[in-house]
Amino acid sequence: MSALVAVDIGGTKVRISSFPVGADWSAAPTAERVFETPRSGDVVAALAERVREVVYEGDKDACPIAVGVGCPGPLDPLRGIVLNPPNLSREWWGLGLTGALAGELGISPDRVALENDCNLAALGEATFGAGRPYGSTLYITVSTGVGGGLVLDGEIFGGERGYAVEIGHTKLTDRPYPCGCGRTGCVESAVSGTAIARRAREAGWTPPSGGEPTAKAVLEAATSGDAVARDIVETAAAFFAETLVNAVYLYDPAVIVVGGGVSESDLFMDLSLAAFERVPTMPAFRGVPVLRAALEPRSVVTGAFVLARRLIGEE
Ligand SMILES: [Zn+2]
Repeated sequence: MSALVAVDIGGTKVRISSFPVGADWSAAPTAERVFETPRSGDVVAALAERVREVVYEGDKDACPIAVGVGCPGPLDPLRGIVLNPPNLSREWWGLGLTGALAGELGISPDRVALENDCNLAALGEATFGAGRPYGSTLYITVSTGVGGGLVLDGEIFGGERGYAVEIGHTKLTDRPYPCGCGRTGCVESAVSGTAIARRAREAGWTPPSGGEPTAKAVLEAATSGDAVARDIVETAAAFFAETLVNAVYLYDPAVIVVGGGVSESDLFMDLSLAAFERVPTMPAFRGVPVLRAALEPRSVVTGAFVLARRLIGEE
């Protein structure tokens, strides 16, 4: 028996799913597990060992025949190389992941594909999630950072080198908010969980439980009626609404699907959608639905599954 494998490499956790080949192509895995992300030593050998465990758990007679891998950028999907993602340890940097993982698993290198995690979340949501009833799907994650992915006619729009739709690092404001990319005033510096926590620190706000402010604590306090926390969330939501309008002008998507930890807050989403309605927008561009991701936290691994099945020539 053969198995398709989907992998979602995150900064702290790796999610691995195994799917039967030739089943009804549903997105339901036969086995799925979440592990700590390898941070030292031979990270590819460690990853391959985990892949074998999950495939064996799904079907003890199965062998992996194709693997789709999602990873934080920047990465080179065309050559299968992880570049220098700030969320992963140095052991991953510069790694020819597709070739190395194929070698560890004893399969052909053209049966392993690497793709930006936001692009795979977009592919997963477009194929099996909130974007399924629509055509082109723009996915935006609002988490520690802000990222995006665009799926047009079922295909990831990657740009010339596979780097496209890095919406988090488009300029949004003249305010000197610092951003990890080196610029100031990026979407990520104004909207992300990091931005929410930074604003709380600047306001001298402390969580009811004490300690340093986190985005989660601010969102919870705002929901419970804390005026300072609510003001911080309103600011982030107003900036996010402007981001959504920019995205509509740029991409004209059929739907915008929003994922990521910050978007799990009903208050953040409600405020963002209300502000989205209020942003002056040319009438022809209004009315694009903005929906919550339907598959989280499995959006990326679902997209990796779609990628894997295409490697063996199946849609
Ligand atoms: Zn930036």
